[in-house]
Order: sequence, then structure tokens, then C-alpha cells
Amino acid sequence: MKKALITGITGQDGAYLSQFLLGKGYEVYGALRRSEEMNISRLKFLGIDSQIKFVPFELADIINIYKTIDRVQPDEIYNLAAQTSIRIAFEEPGYTTDINGIAVLRLLEAIRSINPKIKFFQASTGDMFGKVQVMPQNEGTPLNPLNPYATAKALGHWTTANYREAYEIFACSGILFDHDSPLRIHQSVPGMISNAVAGIKMGVQDKLILGNIEFSRDLGYAGEYVEAMWLMLQQDKPDDYVIATGETHTVREFIEAAFNSVGVKLEWSGKGLDEKGIDPKTGKIRVALELRFPSVNPASAAALVRSHSGATKPAQGDYSKAKKILGWEPKVTYKELFKIMVEHDLKHASNKELRD
Ligand code: NAP
Repeated sequence: MKKALITGITGQDGAYLSQFLLGKGYEVYGALRRSEEMNISRLKFLGIDSQIKFVPFELADIINIYKTIDRVQPDEIYNLAAQTSIRIAFEEPGYTTDINGIAVLRLLEAIRSINPKIKFFQASTGDMFGKVQVMPQNEGTPLNPLNPYATAKALGHWTTANYREAYEIFACSGILFDHDSPLRIHQSVPGMISNAVAGIKMGVQDKLILGNIEFSRDLGYAGEYVEAMWLMLQQDKPDDYVIATGETHTVREFIEAAFNSVGVKLEWSGKGLDEKGIDPKTGKIRVALELRFPSVNPASAAALVRSHSGATKPAQGDYSKAKKILGWEPKVTYKELFKIMVEHDLKHASNKELRD
């Protein structure tokens, strides 16, 4: 039985990857920060919490990293843990650089010392392309990060490549473009849209209020992105791969898809900030715009930074290498993703733990 150590086990991807690896017969070790609190609602939701062996873990603590890897002796490590808020990245750039960048070095050094045969996956991000110059972006596209989250991730990305080249560690980066799911935090733009549509449908919310609905994103379904992470570590040679849908859609399209999934065909009226999304059956305004910083959502904040800096091209991933070598390609469309998310929010509307 293979052993996998997953950092970021409490997060969206950690939960789906755990489920996937358990299905493959792995012994899954969940590296858990603040283990006294056991924030494992996503694992509980998937009904897999009792199958995971939790180990206390903190990316900032090199001693803890060494002790954890030495104790578990995993075959594979998936580093999904990160400081993922762009708002916090701007407020705490030093901490973010430490956790998203330097901690990758700590992990790889620990692997090199304890057992260089351990395979390593690093969760890199399409946000590293930042102010994009080339459309679409692939593994060879120059990085141009525009915020402390992405610059730190770029450090982790290059450190992973460096340990692969210099020490022949089986280390891979997945350059992951945005991916959401019902397990994603609701403060993400897709999460806010889905949550609001469910609330409106149930009559507990009046409208959805957002900032910029014109920016585009390459958005996939987290449940299938985790398979690509595993596939990377099963190849003969380690390498980096873009994992994306290859399509971009605007937030406006996301809103329409979410409303469509509950039978509302929104109509738009007005211009600029005065534009409104109206339910033609009731005449009620269901979407309104407000000029405000999209406070806690990494992707929308990154897009805001991009548009402020004159980079208007949307990030769009070219996943052809993953398709050719890993045999991976996305199947869930953004419309299906919103259907899945809205259905979940409708079903669990009364369960605060699953909504927040
Ligand atoms: P997420 O839901 O925000 O989860 C982040 C995880 O990191 C949580 O389990 C968190 O633990 C853990 N963590 C944070 N700081 C830590 C520390 N100092 N020590 C140990 N653990 C720590 O993230 P996600 O959406 O699953 O994303 C997974 C990875 O993919 C991340 O590295 C992210 O940057 C990358 N990525 C995600 C996307 C996306 O669209 N989701 C796109 C590109 C790349 P707590 O529960 O204790 O806070």
C-alpha cells in the first residue's frame, strides 16, 4: 500500500485528492495545522475523515516538517498547503512568501535529507503568469506575477524545478488554473454567485451584488484537477504541467449559468455600474453592481490587479502537454460546474458549516 502525505488536507483540493487517493488504495496521511481544532468539515462532507491518519503539521516550522516526513516515510508528498488569500498576501507579504515559497524549499530539503526517492507534487498557479504576454499560456510561457501570492508561488515553482534538475528528485509542479467546487470557500466569486443564487431561489436573499463582471477566468472543476496531480507522480519522468480548461468565460457568463441552473433566464438592462440583472418572470432585480474591492477572493483580486496594471488579457491555460503525456483533460464545463455548486448550496443551505 502506497503512502501519501497531503499538506493542505483541510482545503478544497486536499479533500478531493484524499478521496481520490483512498479510492486508489493509498494510505493517506493528512498534514493538519492547528490539529487541536480539527477543521475537517470538507473531509467529513465527503465521508472520508475516519480513513485519514492526521499528523500535526506547520509549513513555517522546519523542525516539524522534518519530523513529520521522517515519521510518515511517505512514497509521495502533495504540497497543497498555501496562504491562498490575495488580500492577506498584500497585507502580509513576508508571511505569504515564507509559506508559499520558502516552505517549498524546506519540504524539498527535508526530502533530500530523509529520502530522495520520495516523489513531490507542488501546487503552482496560473496566477504566476500575471500580466500575460502570450495567449494561451503553457509550461514555457514566461512568468510575470503581479501580487505577493503569485511571486511566492513562482519561488516555490522554480525551487521545485531546481531540486528536480540539481538533485534528481522526482518533483513536479502542476500549474493549476482556477478551479472551484462545492467545497470551495464561499467568498470566491463562483462561490458567492452560487451561494446567492441558492439564497434567492429559497427566498432568503434578495440579490447578488458584485464588482466587475466583465473579467474572464479559465475555471475548472476541482474534483477532476486532483487526478492530474496524481498522474504527474506516476510518470517515468518528473515534469511540470499546465492544468486548465483552455477556455475563458466572463463572470457575467458565470452568473447567467448559475441562474439558468435554477430556471431563471436573466435579462440585463442599463450600462456600467447601473447595469442590472433582472428576472423577466418577476421583474425583480437579481444582480446589481457596486464598485468595491473583491475583498477575499484570490482570483478576482488578481484580476483586479491585472486590470489596474494594464494587463487586460485573461489568463487561459494550454493543457495540451497534460493531454498528450498524462492523458488528462477536463470534462466538466463551467455551466455544469455552476449547476453542481448551486445544487449543493440549495441542499445544504441550512447547514452553516457547509455554507461558510
Ligand atoms: P485552500 O482551500 O485555501 O486550502 C489551503 C490549505 O493550506 C488549507 O488546508 C490550510 O490549512 C493550509 N495551510 C495554510 N497555511 C498553512 C501553514 N502555514 N501550514 C500548514 N498548512 C497551511 O486551497 P485550495 O483551493 O485547496 O488550493 C490548493 C492549492 O492549490 C494551494 O496551494 C493553492 O495556492 C493552489 N491553487 C489553487 C487554485 C484554485 O483555484 N483553488 C488555483 C491555482 C493554485 P488551514 O485549514 O489550517 O487553514
